[in-house]
Amino acid sequence: MHMNIFFKKHKLPSLHPNSNQMSKKKDEKKEEKKHHSVVNKKSIEFFEKYINTHSPTGFEWTGQKVWLDYIKPYVDTHFVDNYGTAVGVINPEAEYKVVIEAHADEISWFVNYITNDGLIYVIRNGGSDHQIAPSKRVNIHTEKGIVKAVFGWPAIHTRSGEKEEAPTLKNIFLDCGCTTKEEVDALGIHVGCVITYEDEFMVLNDRYYVGRALDNRAGGFMIAEVARLLNENKKKLPFGLYIVNSVQEEIGLRGAEMIANRIKPNLAIVTDVTHDTSTPMINKITQGDLACGKGPVISYAPAVHNNLNKILVDTAKKHDLPFQRQASSRSTGTDTDAFAYSNGGVVSALISLPLRYMHTTVEMVHKHDVDNVISLIYETLLEIKPGHDFRYIK
Ligand SMILES: [Zn+2]
Repeated sequence: MHMNIFFKKHKLPSLHPNSNQMSKKKDEKKEEKKHHSVVNKKSIEFFEKYINTHSPTGFEWTGQKVWLDYIKPYVDTHFVDNYGTAVGVINPEAEYKVVIEAHADEISWFVNYITNDGLIYVIRNGGSDHQIAPSKRVNIHTEKGIVKAVFGWPAIHTRSGEKEEAPTLKNIFLDCGCTTKEEVDALGIHVGCVITYEDEFMVLNDRYYVGRALDNRAGGFMIAEVARLLNENKKKLPFGLYIVNSVQEEIGLRGAEMIANRIKPNLAIVTDVTHDTSTPMINKITQGDLACGKGPVISYAPAVHNNLNKILVDTAKKHDLPFQRQASSRSTGTDTDAFAYSNGGVVSALISLPLRYMHTTVEMVHKHDVDNVISLIYETLLEIKPGHDFRYIK
């Protein structure tokens, strides 16, 4: 999910912050009983490989190749654009075009300043979190390959007695084991090299997928799984389906803007992550009441088309898929906005995956939610008729 650093997002408060608690036990039981798993061993292997492949904003090509390799058998054709957005297409000749979309880029850092002592100061590439940087291990991407480094931090002993300083962009720095600028240069590191974290995929308690940049490569995984299911179940769609993995979402929905203008779709279903607000220090009054394991999140926002949203809700009910609701002020902060406001207005909706600890290296999503987002997109596609008149006023 894109984080606008300058204009904080304000979500509408939930009108009934406690309404879910009473039926919690009952819901969990219901969800447990009815859950229909759709991912398989092979797809999880792809998911793990994809998450472990670096895909920093503006430098997504390595991850995009992994994604394309997986999706190619399930689509009729594919293409990429100049900046790396990758698109798998089913029925490329069809006039009516439907997009399902996720974003491929992961937040990262840029090398910004190398000191004479061989230390490296960074700037953000996307909404990278300065608070979690100290003591993390990183990969600096250079033309000579990956160079390892660590975010150093003064020892607790040397800080005692003084007012604790919080990590900020002004004081976090990388140490790559060099003591002069010349040594750093010799490793192939220069201003503009991009930096990602080491952290890799894991599963917690057989319940949560954990990793860096599940925002939003979980989305890329889920739309690829939709393509796989359509192919394996031999479903014939009456429209062209464009499975879009967009670049550069984290710095302002840029890849989606570019590809929306190229494809000129009639309809777009976007998937991204949203905050699980059930963990400590998150205010449900401002952030809403959402939790991992309770199902896909359907968004309400001006950019989201209400008539397409109705199809999502009806489809979820028809197939007994759990879902949650979220409201967004002004914009959704996702590629939904880019599609909705392109080409004179593209009918768009957003299905979000609840996620814990966004923009940290331990982002967590619930296995069942992943299955259910895939199922909801898949079943919704089977409901869509080409030429459907979505206008509010006829
Ligand atoms: Zn994000």
